[in-house]
Amino acid sequence: MGINLVYSNPHTVQKLLTEIADHIAPHCPETPRLDAEVLLAEVLGTDKAGLYRSFHDLVPVFARNRLRELVQRRIKKEPISYILGRKEFWSLVFSVGPDVMVPRPDTEVLVEEALRAVPLETRCSILDIGTGSGAIAVALAKERPAAIITATDISASALETAKRNAALNHVTAITFRHGDLFDPVRDREHNFDLIVSNPPYIPTDETSRLPKGLRDYEPYSAFDGGPDGLALYRRIIREAPRYLKADGILMVEVGYDQSTAVSNLIREAGGFRPPETVRDLSGLERVVKAQMERL
Ligand code: SAM
Repeated sequence: MGINLVYSNPHTVQKLLTEIADHIAPHCPETPRLDAEVLLAEVLGTDKAGLYRSFHDLVPVFARNRLRELVQRRIKKEPISYILGRKEFWSLVFSVGPDVMVPRPDTEVLVEEALRAVPLETRCSILDIGTGSGAIAVALAKERPAAIITATDISASALETAKRNAALNHVTAITFRHGDLFDPVRDREHNFDLIVSNPPYIPTDETSRLPKGLRDYEPYSAFDGGPDGLALYRRIIREAPRYLKADGILMVEVGYDQSTAVSNLIREAGGFRPPETVRDLSGLERVVKAQMERL
């Protein structure tokens, strides 16, 4: 397969799909056909169904030129979501770029669990620490319109993206604050019914072994969790009681092998009832939650 052939000769959607997938496969062997479909659909301004409806149509030259750029980015292992500039999460569309980590389906477990804890019509107060793209905060705001939500991040540029995503999804109930963990809410002691966070949790010496797409494109400060991956949990668990109401709940996403360690940190910290864990669809414990112990 010659790349020049792909972009210079008249090609049908069908033929181009096969050629792009063959071109991508040696570099990104995971899902080359799907990548080809997504990229071609993008340049044609359609979706997968539309692509297959026009299977035998010729692809115009302008689309093939644009496609060349996108395929070149993909073969350098840039994640598809950054190439498209968007990612679907909780059936909502989020704008994503190099300043924010791409929201992962795993994190929907945390959203589901948070929704279980927050009754529909209550004016409860929620804090999302390390909001990144705003995925968790915006999903919660959509589902719980009466909630008052504060979202923080240490990255000012991430917060800008999060604000954009709130606007994109017509959400106005989120206050965004910039700073390190609880610093932006120092004035809000015992104010929150629920604190949620999906902090960075990859141990530092494992970060160099992460897939290239993640390592090279996603912000380092969004995944480096310190020497043992637990640095941010320690700080969040130590400080959360000061910001939670008497029966408030702390809920964090954890790495696939971290639920025991994080549960132990909560037990050792004291002030919480025994922690509980929640599994994702593949059976991994993905969320650790604990309610404050009423004194
Ligand atoms: N909440 C988003 C999600 O679930 O998709 C992003 C999660 S990402 C794993 C972690 C986020 O925490 C990043 O946006 C990063 O900038 C932020 N972060 C890292 N260290 C932080 C700190 N000390 N204080 C506040 N935010 C921090």
